[in-house]
Amino acid sequence: MAVTSALGISRPGRASFPPPTLHTIPRAIGENVAIARARTRSRIMAVVKADGYGHGAVTVARAAIAAGAGWLGTTDLAEALRLRAAGITAPILTWLNPSGVDAEAAAIGRTDIAVGSVGELEALLAQTSPTALRVHLHLDTGMAREGCPAPEWEALLTGARRGQRRGRIRVVGLMGHLPLADLADPEANAAAVARLRHAGDAVAAAGFGIPLIHLAATSATLTDPSTHFGIVRFGAGLVGIDPSGVTDLHGAARLTAPVVHSAAVEAGTPVGYGGTYVTDTATHLSVLPLGYADGIPREIAPGASVEIHGRRHPVAGRVSMDQIVVDTGTDHVPRGTTATVFGPRDGITPTIQDWARWAGTIPHTIVTGIGPRVERTIA
Ligand SMILES: *Cc1c(COP(=O)(O)O)cnc(C)c1O
Repeated sequence: MAVTSALGISRPGRASFPPPTLHTIPRAIGENVAIARARTRSRIMAVVKADGYGHGAVTVARAAIAAGAGWLGTTDLAEALRLRAAGITAPILTWLNPSGVDAEAAAIGRTDIAVGSVGELEALLAQTSPTALRVHLHLDTGMAREGCPAPEWEALLTGARRGQRRGRIRVVGLMGHLPLADLADPEANAAAVARLRHAGDAVAAAGFGIPLIHLAATSATLTDPSTHFGIVRFGAGLVGIDPSGVTDLHGAARLTAPVVHSAAVEAGTPVGYGGTYVTDTATHLSVLPLGYADGIPREIAPGASVEIHGRRHPVAGRVSMDQIVVDTGTDHVPRGTTATVFGPRDGITPTIQDWARWAGTIPHTIVTGIGPRVERTIA
């Protein structure tokens, strides 16, 4: 209940119903890992960058490890060290450290580092670290975004051999990244597979032994065994996104919000900024305290909807910074009723794939865009 002060002012922070909340569902993450494991004999690296695709990196990591993932992957060292701080002991690789790597922190945090250029390697070797850093050599397999370009590869191997002789690094892995990550098309991946194999031969010939090789992300994990090598890097799939749209995975989050205001309105009532939506009959409107500042996309097609009491109701009018309005038709929805913006697929509740379609985007941007005002909990 709202608490009223002596001045008659409602005190904030004593909400009468639960605030907008993102519920992460560890069981769904485990089921998605099981689906990946059924498609490959390779080890699974659970990629938990961007706070576990918005689902909470530690929560996602723990659920994935419990389901059999043997490795974790993050974009940068800071994300890896947050997992270590939470007590997670699985091997971790980080592959993109644009402002460089603190070699001592990486060694103490037992984090493997991907190195994609001679410059990055030199920056590592210029530092001291208490133990030899575990390095994965990162080859550009067709992205022109990250990884070592082919003409520089021999120089990278030469530098790595020198670093390893001096006991500063140990080359343990070799990675590439598939440019057509949303296609279920082995033919499209064949060139990258060939380049990585070739590079793997060069690494072995350079005397590093046989490295752990990894190339596939979610889509290729699910569709193209020729890309699997020793480890697959499975990120989006953990939270129910198959970028190639081939496999039905389990949605791993539910976004809920309370109805904070409800009203019956006449036909012809304009709703929201600009009055872009005008009721065509007498109807009921409900307000949810979530807007584009919380990650509800502002550019949504008609039909975007939320679930209340087992029915879908359309968003009416523009998405505001802090609010959306829902047209509930003949249903009068009491204040405090919980609405579900998205959740696992159940035939009624909108999914993140639905929201991506309504917003003309991909589900990744829906889940990574949920703002900091939204509470987080584990379902
Ligand atoms: C994000 C990322 C992945 C995971 O990709 P998904 O399609 O989300 O599984 C794998 N490898 C690299 C290098 C990445 O940046």
